[in-house]
Amino acid sequence: MNPDVMSTTDTTTPGIERVERLRESLRERELDAVLVNDLTNVRYLTGFSGSNALVLIGAGESASGERPDRFFTDFRYATQSSEQVPDAFAHEIAPNLLDAAARSLADGGGRLGFDDAALTVADHTRLREKLPAAWELVACAGAVRALRAIKDEGEIAHIRAAAELADEALQAMLEAGLAGRTEREVAIALEVRMRALGAEAASFPPIVAAGAHAALPHAEPRAETIARDLLVTIDWGARINGYCSDCTRTYATGEGVSAQAREVYELVRSAQEEGVRQARPGPTGVELDRHVRALIERAGHGEHYGHGLGHGVGMDIHEGPRLSQSGSREPLRAGNVVTIEPGVYVPDVVGVRIEDLVVLTGDGCDVLTKLPKELTVVC
Ligand code: ZN
Ligand code: ZN
Repeated sequence: MNPDVMSTTDTTTPGIERVERLRESLRERELDAVLVNDLTNVRYLTGFSGSNALVLIGAGESASGERPDRFFTDFRYATQSSEQVPDAFAHEIAPNLLDAAARSLADGGGRLGFDDAALTVADHTRLREKLPAAWELVACAGAVRALRAIKDEGEIAHIRAAAELADEALQAMLEAGLAGRTEREVAIALEVRMRALGAEAASFPPIVAAGAHAALPHAEPRAETIARDLLVTIDWGARINGYCSDCTRTYATGEGVSAQAREVYELVRSAQEEGVRQARPGPTGVELDRHVRALIERAGHGEHYGHGLGHGVGMDIHEGPRLSQSGSREPLRAGNVVTIEPGVYVPDVVGVRIEDLVVLTGDGCDVLTKLPKELTVVC
């Protein structure tokens, strides 16, 4: 593993380090506290994996010397939260978490950040009513998400394990062949295999699309039998310890695949491999997308490549940074885990996508998805 990624302290389980990074960002945003209600963000900060919780993080020590960070959940999760959430958080069990959080702020005042991408308008209104007027509510979507875009060593280990398991599941599933099975059967077999190997779940419902159907980038697997001499695109991933993997491979179901399909395949493969070669800290998501897109445009397939080059992957299957024409304008950084997944989709004819999951290191990237990319025949 690369030393630049190793440099963060070991945080296989969330520790105080993530909260301290958030505190720094609160000070930069001139916030006195932040309310975190997105459950994935709560899990990132506390390790709590239940379905109802709120966290309040203070920018500094409270005047009374109490712990500034508070965790709220309801009685169903009293035991689970006491096991999962570090003691650095003051715990509170309450029937209404928002009211309890507002109550805990009754004595103070200042700028309270909230996640405008996660707090409903109704909850915002309720919070405003319950909070003393001395608190100003400030929208700050993305404060925790920005931290999550840089993975620590423990997170990378979880994602690496998910990618390895997904590779193994696909290889095992392919032993039964593709031609003669339906897209749905293949998708279900893949999902079952991932679960049997120890995944918590698929990181998203697998996509299996044969022939012209693969020209739809997010095709739903059909109850139709896969014929011979076609290309079949399979996009799948596993989830382990709350972390996702994401990979796509395109296979041939016979040697008789059309010359056009082979040509599209080789174009996507060379563009994808160039994307992996260029994936490193420094360029922005927009620049990396543009570089790979130019190769596909030069081959006359620009109009057949309508999505972005890739996306961040972590606790969510799609997160920051985005590699696309409207994506991240900040330089990519070591510790970003992103996909490189160009595709060419010729309507009603053929679709090819090849996707790897990579972690950016000091001067390049480490590819986590390891299945070969030469066009492989699986009958
Ligand atoms: Zn994918
Ligand atoms: Zn993807």
